[in-house]
Amino acid sequence: MSEQTFLIKPLLDGHYPTAKYGKGIYIYDDTNKQYIDGSSGAVTASIGHAVPEIIEAMIKQAQKISFVYRSQFTTEEAERLAEKLSRMEFIKAGDYSSFFVNSGSEATETAMKIAIQYWQEQGKPTKNKVISRWTSYHGITIGSLSLSGHSERRRRFVSLLDDLPTISAPYCYRCPFHATYPSCQLQCGSELESAIQRIGAEHIAAFIAEPIIGAAGAVIVPPEGYYKYIKEICEKHSILFIADEVMTGIGRTGKMLAMEHWGVRPDIITLGKGMSAGYTPIAATLVSEKVLAPIRQGSKMIMSGHTYSANPQSAAVSLAVLEYIEQHQLVAKAEENGQYLLNELQKMAQQIPIIGDVRGKGLLVGVEFVANYFSKFPFRKDLDLTNSVVALARDKGLLIYPASAGIEGGDGDAVIISPPLTINKQEIDQLIKIFKETLLDIQNGVM
Ligand code: PLP
Repeated sequence: MSEQTFLIKPLLDGHYPTAKYGKGIYIYDDTNKQYIDGSSGAVTASIGHAVPEIIEAMIKQAQKISFVYRSQFTTEEAERLAEKLSRMEFIKAGDYSSFFVNSGSEATETAMKIAIQYWQEQGKPTKNKVISRWTSYHGITIGSLSLSGHSERRRRFVSLLDDLPTISAPYCYRCPFHATYPSCQLQCGSELESAIQRIGAEHIAAFIAEPIIGAAGAVIVPPEGYYKYIKEICEKHSILFIADEVMTGIGRTGKMLAMEHWGVRPDIITLGKGMSAGYTPIAATLVSEKVLAPIRQGSKMIMSGHTYSANPQSAAVSLAVLEYIEQHQLVAKAEENGQYLLNELQKMAQQIPIIGDVRGKGLLVGVEFVANYFSKFPFRKDLDLTNSVVALARDKGLLIYPASAGIEGGDGDAVIISPPLTINKQEIDQLIKIFKETLLDIQNGVM
């Protein structure tokens, strides 16, 4: 490719290989170099690349119709997708309906709006704030970024962001209360109740949380009992609970929805990424009948929507992806192979002292780096360790996802490893080998 480029990339002068094609868990560039897609892009390509069944579904749908406007037509594909999502075993009893959008950020925005509207329809217009956790990422648009504590992504736009209340994350590796589970008695959960009491429940519409914190905390898995406690607090104070399953949903953590791990059913659920496994843009806000009922009886409309909402091409792809996941039992495989990946990484960590923590569920695993294993002191920011690890791994043929470590203020280094759910043990061994070589080289450079 020529040096001159008109495409705006994340780093305007950065070097990006040109992807030529993909097959299974691999991506190939224009020099035919092979990369293991060890992060499924941004935790998205969950069934791997160029799957024939999905290509076939795309062609079939394109031959029928690719676009209708949602205020003029519904389609069989969008209806079937909404029904399929509603029938997911864990949430079946909640009678959820789907509002389709195009990205996780839009799904968050929609969830916020529906939560606020739910209270408006019941004559409670002051219940309009959403509490989130500081260590979180819910999207890049102004509304969803207002809920996100990702310091790096907020900094330039702080004056535009709504100043919404936040609480600490259930980050046991660096407990914000300097306590240890279970003697901590879940102070991270109690903080929600304190925040509600301080602000007044009459001003709060909802609490939003990623079941497992992704980009802002490199896979922070909460301790047992945390979500049960959170849900109890929400119910006690009449506050809706929104689970942002954009990263964790559709099998990634070894359950169809991550909230299944704790048996807690949210009032509203957002989905994205794995819904279409990256083949086309689609995301969704799933709204339980409890939340939808007052809107049905009141204004009878959701005051939101996008030109491409419920796009039939994307709906057909998402249906094909969900069927593929079912047919190949990828959720169970994610659980089994995820445990294998986690065990192998934990074994590897014993030989590499710059690894402070390895944590995860299913095929969503975070690795946090530290300058001192015992004090957990992070590396200096100017060393840019995360990006060095990601760049060196890429040179060696492995793609991993850079993440924040979860330390408030953005310090710390970490990566996410989240290969397609189709990965097998042999391929995991290949991934681990390259990751280990990368970290040994990095360690030799910094220690
Ligand atoms: N919510 C979570 C938990 C995410 O991880 C992301 C993206 O990484 C988003 C929302 C935003 O999704 P999108 O990038 O599709 O707008």
